[in-house]
Amino acid sequence: MTTVSYTAVELIEIKRDGGVLSEDAIAWLIDAYTAATITDYQMSAMAMAIFLNGLNAGELAAWTEAMLHSGDVMDFGEISAKKVDKHSTGGVGDKISIPLAPLVAACGVVVPMMSGRSLGHTGGTLDKLESIPGFTTALDPVQFRNILREHGLALVGASETIVPADRMLYSLRDATGTVPSIPLISSSIMSKKLAEGIDGLVLDVKTGSGAQMKSREMSRELAETMVGIGKAHGVQTLAFITSMEQPLGKEVGNASEIRESVDVLVGEGPDDVTELTLVFGEAMLEMAGIEGGRATLEKAISTGAAMEKLIDVTVAQGGDPSVLEDTSLLAKARHEATVEAPRAGYVSTCDALAIGTVATRLGAGRLKIGDVIDPGVGITVEAKVGDQVSAGQPLARVRYADEPGWEALREKLASAWEISETAPEAAPLILERVE
Ligand code: URA
Repeated sequence: MTTVSYTAVELIEIKRDGGVLSEDAIAWLIDAYTAATITDYQMSAMAMAIFLNGLNAGELAAWTEAMLHSGDVMDFGEISAKKVDKHSTGGVGDKISIPLAPLVAACGVVVPMMSGRSLGHTGGTLDKLESIPGFTTALDPVQFRNILREHGLALVGASETIVPADRMLYSLRDATGTVPSIPLISSSIMSKKLAEGIDGLVLDVKTGSGAQMKSREMSRELAETMVGIGKAHGVQTLAFITSMEQPLGKEVGNASEIRESVDVLVGEGPDDVTELTLVFGEAMLEMAGIEGGRATLEKAISTGAAMEKLIDVTVAQGGDPSVLEDTSLLAKARHEATVEAPRAGYVSTCDALAIGTVATRLGAGRLKIGDVIDPGVGITVEAKVGDQVSAGQPLARVRYADEPGWEALREKLASAWEISETAPEAAPLILERVE
C-alpha cells in the first residue's frame, strides 16, 4: 500500500538520470500501470530507462514484489503433492515446456505452469499452445485450480487477475526493444512463477546468439539473480545455462513446434529437444521427491502416459485433441520455399537470431501489440551445426503466407548458415548449473 502520490514523469526522470526508486514509488508505479492510470507510453519510457540504467537489488526486489501482488497469488496448499514448474528465458525453437509439462505431470509432479507469449525473436509457449484449435490459456483462478486438481497440470498465461502487471508489461517490452534486461526479465519470470504457489522451479537460462542474453557472463548473472529471488521466497530454485547459438530441434514456428513436441512425447523427437526435456524432467522429479529419474520419464513416454496427459489437459482447456492424434491436421501456411546450401561442406553456423527474426517477421511473432500470430508459418531447419551438406541441398524449408514478405526475407534467412570445409568441434548443449 503506497502512502505518497507520485507522477509517472517524475519517476521516469529519476530512473532516466540514474537515480534509485523507493519501494513505495515502485509499488505506486506498478499499481497505477495495472489500473491504467498511467499510460503505455509512460511505462515504455520507464522500461527503456530501466533497460539503460538497471535496478539495484532493493529496487529489483520491490519491483518483483509489486508485479507479484498486482493480482491474485495462488495457494494450492490443498494439493499435497509438490508443485514444481520450469521456465525458459526464451529461445528459438524452444518448445521444451510443451513436452516437459505433461511428461513430468504423468509421473506425479503437479505443474501449475504460467508461460509467456513470443518475445522479440523468440517464440512463446502460449502462442504455440493456441495453435491447437480451441485451446485457451486464459484461465481464471477457479478454472486454473480445478484443472490443476483434476489433471495435475494447467497451462496458463498471466491474466487480468493473476500477475496482470506482467501481462501488460510483457507485450509492451516486446514492442519497444526493452526485452533483454536482467531486472526486467527476472522480475517478469519470477513474479509469474511466485504467483503459482510452487515449491520448486527449474530455470533454463539461454545463452548465445538466439538468447536474450548473448554472453555467458550476462546469462550467469541472470541465472544467479533469479535463483536468488526464488530462494528469498522459499522456493527451491535451480537454473541451467544452455546454449542457444542454433535453434532447438528442427521446427521454428507455432503449429510446427506443437508437432515436434508430440514427436518428443511419442519417443521420436530430435536429440537436443529430447535431451533437454529429460534433463529438466529429472530435476523436476527430484524436487518433487519422485524417484526413478530418467527411467521413470522414459517409461511415461513408452507407455503413452505422457502423451495421454497432453491430450487430457488439451481437452480440459478447450482444445481439439484430434490435431495431437494426427499432427498433419495442424495449421500449415499455403506456400513453401527452400533455402539451399551455396556449396558443399560442413555447417559451422546455424544462427538462431537470424532464423528467429525471419520467423517472427513471417508472422510467427509480433512486431507491435495486438498483431495476430499466424500459426501455420514457420521454418524447418534441415541442416544444423556439424551436418555435412552438398551444394544445393536444402538448409531450410519455409512455410509462408505472403510472397513479397517472404522474398524480402530470403537473403536474411540464407545468411544464417555458414559452411566450412572442415567439421566444427561439437559444442555442449548444457553449459552450467546455477543453484
Ligand atoms: N520469459 C518471461 O516470462 N519474461 C521475460 O522477460 C523473458 C522470458
